[in-house]
Amino acid sequence: MINPEQQTRIQRRLIECIQMADRYFNQTFVAPQLLFNQRGNIAGTAHLQKNIIKLNATLLKDNFEEFMQTVLPHEVAHIVAFQRFNRVKPHGIEWQSIMHNVFNLPPRVRHKMDTTKTQGKMFDYQCKCGTVKLTVRRHNKVVNKQQIYCCRKCQQQLIQITQ
Ligand SMILES: [Zn+2]
Ligand SMILES: [Zn+2]
Repeated sequence: MINPEQQTRIQRRLIECIQMADRYFNQTFVAPQLLFNQRGNIAGTAHLQKNIIKLNATLLKDNFEEFMQTVLPHEVAHIVAFQRFNRVKPHGIEWQSIMHNVFNLPPRVRHKMDTTKTQGKMFDYQCKCGTVKLTVRRHNKVVNKQQIYCCRKCQQQLIQITQ
């Protein structure tokens, strides 16, 4: 789990972002609740009706500054856009203008970060062309003899490389 110091810093950053929006729009926005249970390869999501921001604890630990600088403001911009303009396109002009004018950030839609840890383990297989990576799910099917996978290029059956 994330350490208490990081939790305090990210919580402060959230309040800071909300206050920036308050000043810009001269309106009091309701700070969303922060949860750290976002799953998968997604850095974070904003749940507008519930006023919740979910952050991915696994990604946050390794990309803390990126979360502070861009991921959190990105999600807060969704919350602010909803409270200010109600139903708008997720990354539409309202959201973009909040990113730009309130947070002084480029309105990037995707977060660039290393997701190898959240992708799950991959297994090395090979054919004539070289090494191919299979997911745990596919690997298990091979091990349990439920499925054979072949290379799309050379049609050769993929064989696990055993170390
Ligand atoms: Zn978004
Ligand atoms: Zn091949």
